[in-house]
Amino acid sequence: MRTLLLSVFALGALAVLPAAAPEPTPLRGFTAQSSRAQREWETKFRAIPEPARLRDMMQRLSARPHHVGSPYDKQNAEWIRDQYASYGWDAKIETFDVLFPTPTERVLEMVAPTTYKAVLQEPTVAGDPTTSQRAEQLPTYNAYSVDGDVTGPLVFVNYGVPADYEELERRGISVKGAIVIAKYGGSWRGIKPKVAAEHGAVGCLIYSDPADDGYGGGAVFPKGPMRPPQGAQRGSVADMPTYPGDPLTPGVGATKDAKRLDVRQAPTLTKIPVLPISYGDAQPLLAALTGPVVPERWRGGLPITYRFGPGASRVHLKLKFDFGLKTLYDVIARLPGTTEADQWIIRGNHHDAWVNGAEDPISGQVAELEEARALGMLYKQGWRPKRTIIYASWDGEEPGLLGSTEWAEAHADSLAAQAVAYLNTDSNGRGYLGVEGSHSLESFINGVEKDIVDPESNVSSWKRNQAALLVRGDPDARAGDLRIGALGSGSDFTPFLQHLGIASMNLGYGGEDNGGIYHSIYDDFYWYTHFSDSTFVYGRALAQAVGTTVMRLASADVLPFVFTNLAETTHRYVDELQKLRDTRAKAIDDERQRVTDSVYAIVRDPRDPVGAPRLVTPPPRFDFGPLLDAQDSLSAAAAQFEKAYTAWHDSQGATTQDGSQASEPGAANLAEVNRRLLRAERVLLLKDGLKNRSWYKHSLYAPGFYTGYGVKTMPGIREAIEQNEWSDVNGEIARVAGTLNAEAALLKEAAALLKAG
Ligand SMILES: [Zn+2]
Repeated sequence: MRTLLLSVFALGALAVLPAAAPEPTPLRGFTAQSSRAQREWETKFRAIPEPARLRDMMQRLSARPHHVGSPYDKQNAEWIRDQYASYGWDAKIETFDVLFPTPTERVLEMVAPTTYKAVLQEPTVAGDPTTSQRAEQLPTYNAYSVDGDVTGPLVFVNYGVPADYEELERRGISVKGAIVIAKYGGSWRGIKPKVAAEHGAVGCLIYSDPADDGYGGGAVFPKGPMRPPQGAQRGSVADMPTYPGDPLTPGVGATKDAKRLDVRQAPTLTKIPVLPISYGDAQPLLAALTGPVVPERWRGGLPITYRFGPGASRVHLKLKFDFGLKTLYDVIARLPGTTEADQWIIRGNHHDAWVNGAEDPISGQVAELEEARALGMLYKQGWRPKRTIIYASWDGEEPGLLGSTEWAEAHADSLAAQAVAYLNTDSNGRGYLGVEGSHSLESFINGVEKDIVDPESNVSSWKRNQAALLVRGDPDARAGDLRIGALGSGSDFTPFLQHLGIASMNLGYGGEDNGGIYHSIYDDFYWYTHFSDSTFVYGRALAQAVGTTVMRLASADVLPFVFTNLAETTHRYVDELQKLRDTRAKAIDDERQRVTDSVYAIVRDPRDPVGAPRLVTPPPRFDFGPLLDAQDSLSAAAAQFEKAYTAWHDSQGATTQDGSQASEPGAANLAEVNRRLLRAERVLLLKDGLKNRSWYKHSLYAPGFYTGYGVKTMPGIREAIEQNEWSDVNGEIARVAGTLNAEAALLKEAAALLKAG
C-alpha cells in the first residue's frame, strides 16, 4: 500500500510540473520540435517502472546462489533472456569459456605458540532462509589465487599498500618468508597480494576489520546491516589493473576455439596464495602478534592491541583450487533503430553474484529489466528510436569483468565502428544519484538528472545532489553543471571505456545506507528488504534515470556530447599534475634536508626505534608545454563546436516557428557530424596503451596500478610522477598531448560540418 501511495505521488509531480511551468528548454541534441515529441515519450516511459515488479524479480533472481558455473546462474540467464523476449526485444545468450577457479581445499591454522584453526565458514541465520543453502554456496575464497602450502611468521601490514611497507621498512620489519595479514579497504583487494609478493611474502590473508564494515558502523546482521563476526568478503584478486577478463585469453574473446595461455603462464594470477577471512578468525591471529604497537592510523576495531609482529607465532596456509574452464552466459537483447540503426547505445548490468547477491548485482539488474519492459511497451505504442539499443546482462563480472570483457573483445571491430555510448549500473541503494564517466557526457547527464524525481525529497535528483554539495560547502555547486567523477574500474564499463574508447557512464543511487554484507552469504533478499531500498522506489528512480538517458542518446538529432566540459576537466587534470610535480619535489627536498640534519636520528626512541625514510632523487622540471598547447587547442575547438551547435539549433527553431515545411536542411551533414562525434572518445586512446599494461588504452582514465578500482586520471603521466619514474614523464606528456590534439582536430571538423548544414 505504501508503495502505491508513493508511486501516485511521484507520478503526480512528474505530470503536473511541466504543465504548470513554461515550456522546458529543448533537450540537448534535439530541435524544438523533436524535443517536444521526445519529452512526451519520456514522460510515458517514466510512468511505467513499478517497485512491486522490481521486488518480485529480485526475489526470483536471488532465490539461490548464482555464481559463474552454478546451475542457477544459467537458469537466471535463460529467465532474463525470456523476459527481454517477452518485452518484444530480440534476445539471445552468447557463451564464452573462461578460467574460473573454485577451491577444493582451504586450511588456515596457527601452529605456534598456541594453536587455532580458522572456521572459514559463514553461519546460517535463523529467519533468513537463503543463508542455509550451504550446498550451493561458494566457500569464502579469493578467485585467481594460486595454489599454495606455506608456513611462516605472521606480519600485520595495515591495508597492505606500498606506503604501509615503507612504514614497516623504517622499523626494520621484513615480510620476507612471512604470511602477511591485511585489512580490507585502502585499495582494491587484488593490490594486497600483489604488493605483498613484491616484498617477498609467501602468503596473504585479507580480513574485514569491524571498524570498517562490522560493529563499528552499527548493529551486525541480522539485528542490523553490518558484517557479523564470521562474515567474510569473497572477491577476485586477479591483477585487473594489468588486464581484466579471462586470464587465459587477453585481448581476444574467450570463444570455443580461442588460443589460450597455460594456467601457469597467466600473468594476472597472484604470485602467492591469498585467502579472505572474517574478523572472528582474524582476532586470535592478530592477538598472538608481538613486537611494537602499530601507529594509531593502523588500528582497527577489535578489542586487542594491534602489533606489527612477527613474533613466536607461526601460521599455516594451504589452498588448492580446481582450475577448470566454466561457461559464461551473457544475455544480449536488441531493439532495432530506424535511420541510424548502425549506431549502438549499449546498456549493461551483470547478473552473476558471489552468492545470492540481492544487492550486488540484482538491485541494478532488476532496474535494467524494468527499463527494457517499459521501452518494449513504448515500442508497441509506436515509439521508434533512431539508433539501435542493446541491453546486456553480463555473466562473470564478479571474478573479473569476464562476461563484458570477453564480449567487448569478441566484438571489438563492430563496437569500434558503431558504439555511441555504454551505460552501466551495478548495485543500487537509497540516496543520491552517483554518476561517473566520460566528461563529454557531463553536461548531458546533468540534463537527465533534472528530470528524475528523487523519491524521498520529491525534488529532482540533480537538485538533491546540488543540495548535498551546498551542505558540504562546495563552491562549484551553484554554477552550471555539477561535476561527474572519472571512472577507475570495479564494474563492466572498463572494457568499453578503457580498452575500446567508448564514451561511458556508471550510474547508481547510494549514500544513505550502511552495510557489511558485501560478497557474503548475507547479501540476500532478506537483508535488502530490511536494510536497503526496501520499498524499491530508488530501484524505480534508477530505471527512470538510465532509461531516459538511453532514450535521449538513441534519438537525438545531434549526439548530445558537450566538449567544453571535457576541455575544462583536462585543464583541471593538467593543473593537478603540475602541482603534483611541485609537491613531490618539495616533499623530497624536505626529506633530504631532514636526513642531512640528522633529525630522525635525534628523535629516535631507543626502545622503539623508527628509521629515516628512504631518499628519492628529486624530479627535474618537466616539459608540460605540449600539453598546455594541446589543452588550449581542445578548449578552442570545443567552443567552436558549441557555437556551431547553437547556430544549428537556433536555425532549426526559426524554421518551426515560421511553420514552414523545411526539408530538414543538412540532414546528410548531421549524419556526417554524428559519425565524427561517435569517434570523439575513440581518438582519446593511446595507440600503444599504457606502459606495462597495453590493454588499457585511454589517455585520460585508468584504474590505478597500485590502487585497483581507484581512478588515475591522465594515468601515464600521473603514475610516472607518483612512482618516481622521472625519465618517463616527458614522453607521457607528449602522448597525452597527441590525443588532445587529435580530439581538437575532430571537433573542428564536426563544427565545420554542422555549420555547413
Ligand atoms: Zn556487482
